[in-house]
Amino acid sequence: MVDILSFDIPTPYPVGPVNLYLLKVGNNNILIDTGPNTEEAKRSLVNALKERNLKVEDIDYIIITHAHQDHMGLAGWIRELSGARICTHVRNAYWLTDYHGEWIRQKEYFLKFWQRNGVPDEIINRMNLFWEFFKDHSVSTEVDCFVEKDSLFVIDNFEIEIIYTPGHASGHIVLKTGGRLISGDHLLEGITSNPVLEPPLPGENERPMSLPMYMDSLKRTLNIRGINLVMPGHGKPFTGYKEVIRRRLIHYEKRKEEVYSKIGDTPRTLFEICREIFPDLPDHQRFLALSETQGHLDLLLQEKRVAIEEMGATIYYVRR
Ligand SMILES: [Zn+2]
Repeated sequence: MVDILSFDIPTPYPVGPVNLYLLKVGNNNILIDTGPNTEEAKRSLVNALKERNLKVEDIDYIIITHAHQDHMGLAGWIRELSGARICTHVRNAYWLTDYHGEWIRQKEYFLKFWQRNGVPDEIINRMNLFWEFFKDHSVSTEVDCFVEKDSLFVIDNFEIEIIYTPGHASGHIVLKTGGRLISGDHLLEGITSNPVLEPPLPGENERPMSLPMYMDSLKRTLNIRGINLVMPGHGKPFTGYKEVIRRRLIHYEKRKEEVYSKIGDTPRTLFEICREIFPDLPDHQRFLALSETQGHLDLLLQEKRVAIEEMGATIYYVRR
């Protein structure tokens, strides 16, 4: 069985440190995820590698589980120092290869999205401040290989299974080697992964249905055979992942009914529904709360239990 080293790297986010994993396959060092582009994370990675008699320059491959800053932010810096080849899912391409372009594109998309979904200007402004906070937490880099579906990453006759698990991010992949599943943010033990809202990719018309996709990916994960240990992007490795998945699916079913119960006879906006379910939110959680509420509305739309009514420039939800 191949050695997997793990490092926890600080992030400036409420979630706390992020776990990176280093697989040593023959003479190759394969790094899974990178930490955010902050001086503190760079220092921490350099020190963690040094403790194992390694340097950033020794990294040969970087596999990115998904395009969130704490998982991809240092990819460009590591590639520059080491010449490491970067591999990820094709849906992460824009964030990786044109970070600031994608940051602006998404910022503009969300401005319109919030306005159409009844979010007051004052709250949009506060969410924008949070978007600004992420602005330099990653840099653009070239990417050497993209996967589109489940794939095998083979190196020196050693195989790592890449499994496509969209939901928390539409480009999320997990990695299986031996009985171990490196799960990124797809499966976390103590934290409920958020189905993060995303714009459509350039050239697409519809945004990804994050929560419906996430629930499908969770169900698919139950069918993956031979997982003994889950090594998550945040928190400690854990074994009882099937129970974690079942609890999460039950949680989402309950929350979906709660969202449905807030849609009465009068049309309601995403913001109005979200405010009732998540009152008194700190600013940094508003985006995630709106993401989750939209996810449940997407489920209810798919089940044809609610419908959209557009009045003026605003989108409302009504029971069918
Ligand atoms: Zn994430």
